[in-house]
Amino acid sequence: MATMRTAPLSIRDRLRAQLADLKMPGALEALDDILAALDGGTLPAPAALEALLGAQITLRNNRRLQAAMRSSRLPAVKTLADFDFSFQPSIKREQLESLHSLGFVERKENVVLLGPPGVGKTHLAISLAVATAESGRRVYYGTLGDLITSLEEASQAGRLQQRMKTLVFPALLIVDEIGYLPITKTGAMLFFQLISKRYEHASTVLTSNKSFDEWGEVFGDEVMAAALIDRLVHHCHIVNIRGNSFRMRHHTELRSALGAPRHPPAGRPQRGARSASPSTPDQAS
Ligand code: ADP
Ligand code: MG
Repeated sequence: MATMRTAPLSIRDRLRAQLADLKMPGALEALDDILAALDGGTLPAPAALEALLGAQITLRNNRRLQAAMRSSRLPAVKTLADFDFSFQPSIKREQLESLHSLGFVERKENVVLLGPPGVGKTHLAISLAVATAESGRRVYYGTLGDLITSLEEASQAGRLQQRMKTLVFPALLIVDEIGYLPITKTGAMLFFQLISKRYEHASTVLTSNKSFDEWGEVFGDEVMAAALIDRLVHHCHIVNIRGNSFRMRHHTELRSALGAPRHPPAGRPQRGARSASPSTPDQAS
């Protein structure tokens, strides 16, 4: 019986087979272009290796993000790269970049973004969630109103423990829009329980248009609000944003007609909390 002679595999074919074997489709797809650039002398070898692994990491992160978009209720994808720091000079770029390296998630610290409407609080909260999801961790997003409604409904249906578990489990929970809607007494209590359970267990990012001094009003209970703030700020990075609404950036006249100062004064000093120091932006204060 005649044996078919197969041509020996070229090193390039073996590379392709190895990448397929290792289940690295991102790297596999990028391989030909990277090899061509190497052959053409336009890409040094270390950069080629970095590009090859980078292509795989990008694919993996995209997949993680897509999975998170299905389960985390994130309303959009926003990234730090889309954030225009020149529009919001009160935000320290180094602090935000440092937060996006996710040391705070590892250390189970919190982030509170404070400021008037339109200054980018939700954008930055989401971009932290996106970075966390890309790192392979579980994230969950809700407005305070949504989260409280879901807890109240679960409580009425006798499923509170399950719902609490769902909200305590993620490595990062975003609580957006604290201060826009009134909260019932039961709602405030359920939220307090949630934060108590997450305290020192996993990170929470919260956004509010109200300074901490006003949270008593928001939650309808000064003592509970103080206890809540106490837990939140124990290991916390505070980003206090003073500036104009990005939504209204093309409406300078409208803004002055509404009587808004160009740079409204900072919120009142925060009870029990210091802003993260600019020299060590990712250290809890
Ligand atoms: P807030 O939550 O503080 O009310 P958002 O984060 O929702 O504000 O911002 C309003 C809109 O403007 C969003 O679409 C957001 O992506 C965009 N935005 C806000 N600030 C910036 C910025 N500095 N650079 C780029 N886009 C921004
Ligand atoms: Mg918002």
